[in-house]
Amino acid sequence: MKKPEILYMVVPCYNEEEVLHETAKRLKEKYESLMSRDLISEKSRVVFVNDGSKDKTWEIIQELHEAEPAFFSGVNLAHNAGHQNAVLAGLMSVKTLCDMAITMDADLQDDINTIDAMVEKYYEGNQVVYGVRSARDTDTFFKRFTAEGFYKFMKVMGADVVYNHADFRLMSRRVLEELANFKEVNLFLRGMVPLIGFQSCSVYYERAERFAGESKYPLKKMLAFAINGITSFSTKPLKLITTVGMLMFVISIIAFIWAFIAKIAGHSELGWSSTMCSIWLIGGLQLLGLGIIGEYVGKIYAEVKQRPRYIIADFINDEDADI
Ligand code: UDP
Ligand code: MG
Repeated sequence: MKKPEILYMVVPCYNEEEVLHETAKRLKEKYESLMSRDLISEKSRVVFVNDGSKDKTWEIIQELHEAEPAFFSGVNLAHNAGHQNAVLAGLMSVKTLCDMAITMDADLQDDINTIDAMVEKYYEGNQVVYGVRSARDTDTFFKRFTAEGFYKFMKVMGADVVYNHADFRLMSRRVLEELANFKEVNLFLRGMVPLIGFQSCSVYYERAERFAGESKYPLKKMLAFAINGITSFSTKPLKLITTVGMLMFVISIIAFIWAFIAKIAGHSELGWSSTMCSIWLIGGLQLLGLGIIGEYVGKIYAEVKQRPRYIIADFINDEDADI
């Protein structure tokens, strides 16, 4: 068999002090089992990315590293950069150290036992392995409804994403090198990775409930994430405005003809309601159109500024520590 390759796990953490110990324990057990089966090299590590947490998350990561430098490493971001940026910061920090990297949430919602299948798929020649949820029984009805609506809406709006796949995925070093060439500030990783291409496949898992603590993605953030996903990946909303505009134009011609005929026939005083309705309707549509255009202008503004997507304060990693 081939020499086992190096796996780095990248785990973004924002205020996760309640779950970190458990996550670390379970990941260590998983690593030991993978190592004993010669599936991954002993140089493999788990990298926790502290995304500007306000609680003891970074202290815990440091303790974990000191206790077991051969398993745990840490990236400390200078401020809260957001989930997507935190994941990217972790991936970019490890891309020259690993052969493959898996990103996973800290809250144990992604099934750790799927890692075996991901690694096996990697050895079969896949450069990207998507973790896809087979069921959403553990999510609340509201979360399930909004999340599934999100994937469907994304597709309609022209951003191609893998259905029911979040950010639990394996990527090879090759893919990470290509990902580094994507310089956009408005990050939407699950849309970007499929764009890179290469041989890919999916593995299925059941999503568990959050182990402890509460979701760091309230509805407001989720909506912002969905809008960002669509406007970063598709200009369909802009085209939609044009279509609606043209439709309104056709309707107005019909209305004009109707008004003209009414005038000739001598009923010209009718029409207060239709005038009021069209003022509100057209005004509303114009505002909506402006808003959508504004959304894109805002995106362009953020992109041209080219501010760094994240700032790394510390990177603790002991490449040569012995087990
Ligand atoms: N997260 C982060 N930065 C943020 C918000 C969240 O790094 O600003 C991390 C969080 O610690 C977790 C992952 O992103 O590991 C997913 O967040 P969460 O579980 O709260 O989202 P949900 O599963 O409810 O969608
Ligand atoms: Mg979660």
